[in-house]
Amino acid sequence: MSAAHEILPTSIVGSLPKPSWLAEPETLWSPWKLEGDALAEGKQDALRSAVLEQSRRGIDIISDGEQTRQHFVTTFIEHLSGVDFDRRETVRIRDRYDASVPTVVGAVSREKPVFVDDARFLRAQTDQPIKWALPGPMTMIDTLADRHYRSREKLAWEFATILNQEARELEAAGVDIIQFDEPAFNVFFDELKDWGVAALERAAEGLRAETVVHICYGYGIKANTDWKATLGPEWRQYEESFPLLQKSIIDTVSLERAHSHVPLDLIELIRGKNVMLGAIDVASDSVETPEQVADVLREALAYVDSDKLVPSTNCGMAPLPRAAALGKLSALSAGAALLRDELAAS
Ligand SMILES: [Zn+2]
Repeated sequence: MSAAHEILPTSIVGSLPKPSWLAEPETLWSPWKLEGDALAEGKQDALRSAVLEQSRRGIDIISDGEQTRQHFVTTFIEHLSGVDFDRRETVRIRDRYDASVPTVVGAVSREKPVFVDDARFLRAQTDQPIKWALPGPMTMIDTLADRHYRSREKLAWEFATILNQEARELEAAGVDIIQFDEPAFNVFFDELKDWGVAALERAAEGLRAETVVHICYGYGIKANTDWKATLGPEWRQYEESFPLLQKSIIDTVSLERAHSHVPLDLIELIRGKNVMLGAIDVASDSVETPEQVADVLREALAYVDSDKLVPSTNCGMAPLPRAAALGKLSALSAGAALLRDELAAS
């Protein structure tokens, strides 16, 4: 089925900028500019364009670019019952910045599929392998106020069950790879060990599709870059999650490396897993050269076998200028191609 490269298949983490006629550019939670049927049609056109750009720029594993969602966590939660979006409280997201968030007021449940129609549409656009991202349970609870369960663990467990229902239907719709985004794993280490990885495994239970967990230092927005500036010369946060993930049922771990202070040898802690390595900085508009991308990937080969390395972006690119994001897609595939040639020649 796939036209994907057998080694170093390239993939983006998730979001791409939306066209300016669909939503305000370079903004998170950007409001839609269309309504009703025009919005539904616009989302599909944007998704189609995201597929085309990835494909023609040499990306092997195709994502939807999150063109149909306003935000990677909020949009999923909006489709669930038990959450009141009119009752908002201010909470601290990932211990980093305050945000006004909806409130859990009753038992949470998924009354109908959330992204399954969109995934089916994506499937119809390409013969290449497709990947779909969902928020992870711990990251979901961190963007809500909870007045019902009054237990982060209980709520995470409920979300894990809901995510598993959605993931199974995505798989049935033809999704090859299902990714759970868990940036919260780089912040809440006690919960990560107590129940975070267990909840993630519950979300991924019974899937035949390849499963990915994406853990990062966030979008290139100010709250995140300010936080990163406090983390010191070595970012060792992955040291907490990787040993647990190495023993987990999750197939692939997605991490950020380009322009970061993540020590490379931490990758040794997930030996045996596929490694989706961030070789594209999403906090900068400047487009990497293919050589820079190849350098980041090449260094990692000391800790991951080449048949398990998936060249990727550090995180989503939604907040970037569109031209920069598209340039980065080309840089990613050109960098991977350079390294592929080197490996073939050696
Ligand atoms: Zn990310």
